[in-house]
Amino acid sequence: MKQLILVKYGEIILKGLNRPIFEDALVKNIKAALPKDFRGCVHRAQATIYVEPDDPSIIDEVLRRLSKVFGITYLTRAFVLPKDLEAIKTGAAEVLAPALKNAVSFKVEAKRADKKFPYTSPEISKEVGGYLHDCFPHLTVDVNTPAATVMVEVREQNAYVYCGREKGAGGMPVGSNSKATLLLSGGIDSPVAGYMTAKRGVRLNAVHFFSYPYTGERAKDKVMSLAKILAEYCPRLDVHIVPFTEAQLAIKKNCPHEQLTIIMRRIMMRIAEQVALNTNAKALVTGESIGQVASQTVEALAVTNEVVKMPVFRPVIGMDKEEIVTIARQIGTFETSILPYEDCCTIFTPKHPNTKPKLDRIVASEQHLEMEKLVADAVNGIEVITV
Ligand code: ATP
Ligand code: MG
Repeated sequence: MKQLILVKYGEIILKGLNRPIFEDALVKNIKAALPKDFRGCVHRAQATIYVEPDDPSIIDEVLRRLSKVFGITYLTRAFVLPKDLEAIKTGAAEVLAPALKNAVSFKVEAKRADKKFPYTSPEISKEVGGYLHDCFPHLTVDVNTPAATVMVEVREQNAYVYCGREKGAGGMPVGSNSKATLLLSGGIDSPVAGYMTAKRGVRLNAVHFFSYPYTGERAKDKVMSLAKILAEYCPRLDVHIVPFTEAQLAIKKNCPHEQLTIIMRRIMMRIAEQVALNTNAKALVTGESIGQVASQTVEALAVTNEVVKMPVFRPVIGMDKEEIVTIARQIGTFETSILPYEDCCTIFTPKHPNTKPKLDRIVASEQHLEMEKLVADAVNGIEVITV
């Protein structure tokens, strides 16, 4: 029997006149997420997107991929039946047999989107429910908390029946809410911060500060692996690999050691803002969380923030490490993030970092650096890798 996937979306429906823009972005992202050899059709009607592969054996793989597309509230594997009440009854009994055999109770809900269909929704529910009850007499009818809810939708082209649905990734379609530049380290927090921002519909690109030879190719590979996992949620992710050694050595040579981290972070922000400006991104995103380390006290964050004009989003700012780890596990970045490769920050970390930096002192120390040149050289040396 013919099968397809019904995609339901939630928050987009609230968008009023802008709704088509969000819907178009979602359809585009769904198409982009399909396997390369997908044959079939994708179309939208009546607040549902239909994904209909010619070959039903790829439905599981398509469902797996679509579970990572933001903007989708629910995903359903549905069976296509002719718009005829008898055909719906017998077809439902046949295709839903595996689900109904194992259930103890059920109910039928019907939706009649095609008002020309000669039965009302309550009539469809009653007819199909009665028939299924005859076929599966062990079932009780429970309209409040049924073990199985059989859905029947009668639409323009066909009728669809299904039982159960999967939760989608939620959020808004990537690309429907501008673009931001993610400062992506090899740690746990920044991939989660990127995921949370992309979930709100923001397309991402990334910068990674790379301190060769203090950090090696394997550290770079680790970041690219993280970017690859993120790209499943946020496709076409360009990673800007920034040569950062020169800047770090210059800070180490010319600035007080307890200020190394904070000055380094200010240079990171300057470079990231340049990348954002050059790539039409409107904000920066980091994985900072208040108090997590010396450079993330409120004072340190304020001094770090002071060098850039762009808004800086810090989606994990109020989260405990454990909460961040839970999301990292869910999205599949955790196992990669904990691989033991060094990061540029760990190598240049001072023994006694300044947890309450004073802006005027930091600015004074930065006078000993050729700031513009350091930033320009780093930006000019960027290697872009598209995931
Ligand atoms: P962890 O999960 O170990 O805390 P982290 O990536 O959060 O890793 P931090 O030292 O806490 O590391 O850095 C704070 C933020 O600064 C990161 O979340 C990230 O946004 C940014 N950052 C740090 N190091 C780099 C780097 N090498 N390249 C790009 N961004 C970085
Ligand atoms: Mg961190």
